[in-house]
Amino acid sequence: MKKTNNTHKCKYIIIGAGIGGLSLALALQRLNQQVLVFEKAPEIKEVGAGVMLTPNATRSLDSLGVLKEIEKDATLPKKTIVRHYQTGKEMSTTDLGDDFTKKYGHPYYDVHRVNIHSSLYNSVKRNDMNCIKVNHELIDFFQSESFVTAKFNNNLVVEGEFLIGCDGIHSLVRKIIKASDNPNYTGNLAWRGLMPVESLPEHQRGPEINIWIGPKKHIVEYTVKSGRFKNYVAISNVKDWHEEGWTVRSSVDQALAEFKDWHQDVRNIISATPQDECYKWGLFDRNPLGSWSENRVTILGDAAHPMLPFMAQGAAMSIEDAIVLSRCFVKYENPRKIFESYENERIDRTAWCQLQSREAGQLFQKISSREDLDSDRAQRGKILYEYDAPRVKV
Ligand SMILES: Cc1cc2nc3c(=O)[nH]c(=O)nc-3n(C[C@H](O)[C@H](O)[C@H](O)COP(=O)(O)OP(=O)(O)OC[C@H]3O[C@@H](n4cnc5c(N)ncnc54)[C@H](O)[C@@H]3O)c2cc1C
Repeated sequence: MKKTNNTHKCKYIIIGAGIGGLSLALALQRLNQQVLVFEKAPEIKEVGAGVMLTPNATRSLDSLGVLKEIEKDATLPKKTIVRHYQTGKEMSTTDLGDDFTKKYGHPYYDVHRVNIHSSLYNSVKRNDMNCIKVNHELIDFFQSESFVTAKFNNNLVVEGEFLIGCDGIHSLVRKIIKASDNPNYTGNLAWRGLMPVESLPEHQRGPEINIWIGPKKHIVEYTVKSGRFKNYVAISNVKDWHEEGWTVRSSVDQALAEFKDWHQDVRNIISATPQDECYKWGLFDRNPLGSWSENRVTILGDAAHPMLPFMAQGAAMSIEDAIVLSRCFVKYENPRKIFESYENERIDRTAWCQLQSREAGQLFQKISSREDLDSDRAQRGKILYEYDAPRVKV
């Protein structure tokens, strides 16, 4: 690639200003590194939806110095209740209150995505006003022995020592270095919606997480924004679907029709979704990759390990990746050693998460007993929640 007057230089070229890219930028800044983050969207904004932050995620966000800001508007759900789809009967309850927080050293929070994203964004900007470049879409890159040169859609060329693709589920960086992207439609379509809790009956405004399960369908609902809004994700088996993305509009009536014979509380929530706030998307699945890096380029977050949402771990895994990778960058100089230690620490864990998320989706839809649920949860919880990204050996 030819150098021009339009060529800029920096050590770390981060592609994508989602939760993963911003976490990496902040983690590196906190280790006194300078970064540039390139985002293709014309402005930095997140979709309006909830995210569950398990203790491994809150521990990671705490180490980045943003948890205090996020928790101002978080909900502490206190418990998860699994309910029968027609009777509403409690099939299983898991404590997420004080004992849970004490056990893992960090809380479980339900938050609005915008709160996580804006806390990360504001912290990165406070460290360096000019390091996030919007309206910059990566279109190609080229590697030499000692540099990587990135080219953007506005003809800007940036030369750096490393390029990190945090460019999400349809990652161009992954396509270039791994040349594989064969997602399979899982047969599940998801609807999501968000509404003020005042639009629901009083008994449905509590902070707990409810998981309603029935044949080939389930719905997860919880409050965000300090309990002011209810968020839900409803999953149903639908044979044909071709689009993968979060922002396909749906109608409330269509979502309601899918859950027409479900408990009134479920139908109350779907009915209360504002007409312009009901979205649907097809759930696609990909197999784990065996490696993520090539010379001076690597990937992180959904770009590296897109996963189904059934264990609520996608954002958590991208924040963990960011912390571990930043530590590898400052510990080692040799690119091969940096990425080897990053991959050694992260690939097995995230591959496990991808496969477990796949299984969890199937389990939810054929659950028959309380024992199934309890043993499944206990096993997964320990491996997931105790992970300490700021302290694992790299
Ligand atoms: C319904 C649903 C519920 C979820 N719930 C949870 C949950 O409860 N808990 C949890 O931990 N996770 C959850 N997740 C997963 C989580 O949201 C994602 O895993 C996480 O946001 C991934 O972050 P990311 O930064 O890797 O990717 P993204 O957030 O997709 O960010 C990628 C960024 O890169 C930019 N970009 C793309 N291509 C280019 C390019 N060529 N040049 C420049 N910029 C580019 C994009 O515009 C985008 O801003 C959920 C996901 C879904 C779908």
